[in-house]
Amino acid sequence: MSVAALPPHAMIIGAGIVGVATAAHLQQQGFRVTLIDRGPVGEGCSFGNAGILAFADVLPTVRPNVLLKIPGWLIDPLGPLTIRPAYLPRALPWFLAATRNALPQRVRAITAARAALCRSVVDDHRDLLRTANASELMVERETLRVFESESEFEAEAHERQIKAEHGYQSIIYDAAECREMEPALAPHIVKGASHGGWYFIKSPLKVTQAVAAAVVQGGGEFIHDEVLAIDVKDGKATALVLAQRGRLPVDRVVVAAGAYSNRLLKPLGERILLEAERGYHMELSDPGISLSRPVTFARTPAVITPMEGGLRMAGTDEFAGLDAAENWQRADALFRNFKLILPGLKAPGETASRWMGRRPGTPDSLPVLGPSTRAANLWYNFGHSHLGLTWAPSSARLLAQLMAGKKPSVDMSPYRADRF
Ligand SMILES: Cc1cc2nc3c(=O)[nH]c(=O)nc-3n(C[C@H](O)[C@H](O)[C@H](O)COP(=O)(O)OP(=O)(O)OC[C@H]3O[C@@H](n4cnc5c(N)ncnc54)[C@H](O)[C@@H]3O)c2cc1C
Repeated sequence: MSVAALPPHAMIIGAGIVGVATAAHLQQQGFRVTLIDRGPVGEGCSFGNAGILAFADVLPTVRPNVLLKIPGWLIDPLGPLTIRPAYLPRALPWFLAATRNALPQRVRAITAARAALCRSVVDDHRDLLRTANASELMVERETLRVFESESEFEAEAHERQIKAEHGYQSIIYDAAECREMEPALAPHIVKGASHGGWYFIKSPLKVTQAVAAAVVQGGGEFIHDEVLAIDVKDGKATALVLAQRGRLPVDRVVVAAGAYSNRLLKPLGERILLEAERGYHMELSDPGISLSRPVTFARTPAVITPMEGGLRMAGTDEFAGLDAAENWQRADALFRNFKLILPGLKAPGETASRWMGRRPGTPDSLPVLGPSTRAANLWYNFGHSHLGLTWAPSSARLLAQLMAGKKPSVDMSPYRADRF
């Protein structure tokens, strides 16, 4: 084959679930691909998430009823949401934009754009996992949401209605049914509901590794290096500057560097509001109880998932920037919360592990997906916030279609880079 006849090549910066899924879909569209990551595959935010495929979560993270709860949450430094005081001035533009996006008209538009990404999540995961020989890691069993009072249950009626309008019907369970499903639940639980659509992945790390391995098997390359900069000249990305290898000429580039993406894009003049929404997990390999499905409860936004390695409690949102030290008390607080509804949980011993990850959060709970405003051959796939595992195969498919010059199956305008 002559050089001129070579298929197009794409460099993908970031080998989290979004980057590896993008590489897989670009390969399917006929691209040659190179994945670049400064760390091992899948060990960024994609490592320690709750594993949920939350395809019924059409409502944005910040919405009117959540806005009302925020002041109460902020009072408790170990509560579901915290902003480190020194970081507040940096985070302010993001929060102002998030507040504007919580107005009813914006919530309706954002919900529609999220629903468009959610629609094909299950099929896209099935397809991607099949090609990666990892289908057994996806568990098609509903998450159970439990309520400690009737008023908590009633308070979510509107959300259940919106989900139902988008085709995700909740099933309601009485107290006895909840305990029949999950005998470890505390006796004071009064009610339960399915989420209207939440399956789970029992090892998010293995899924990311399996997809990356399939990409390499299909002829893709993996480079272990840090991208320091993207060189852009006359509206075209010309090279990546790597910490070890120096300048690497490029054909096309995809930025899928999660919460770090803005570090590469700000120097190019791209204006995107992206914050690290830092979440924590604690995983118990010897939890003293067992669960057959993930469980959430209304008191606090967190989930406990039966992972391959044990029960993983994950959640909370901390705004402190990319580089601030972890506050492990936040992981410990997850245990104390879940102990309230799962009293048999054994205290975290030597084998408990704690983890912090940086969700790439935008103020409108939508990813940045599509072409750059700075260079014709530069593309973006990041900012998936709380739903990166859920949306990765779908956003990757859509971006690969765009890059291959095909018309994607959904309207891509809500995800464009110049919306901030
Ligand atoms: C506690 C918690 C629970 C969560 N639960 C869920 C859930 O249940 N379901 C769900 O759908 N989502 C969940 N999420 C969100 C989800 O984990 C993220 O949205 C997703 O992992 C983001 O994937 P990513 O590939 O964009 O980023 P990452 O996984 O962070 O990958 C980015 C990669 O880019 C690399 N990188 C960055 N900069 C550079 C550079 N300059 N050079 C080279 N490499 C670079 C990093 O090393 C990293 O490997 C959760 C997140 C947290 C924190």
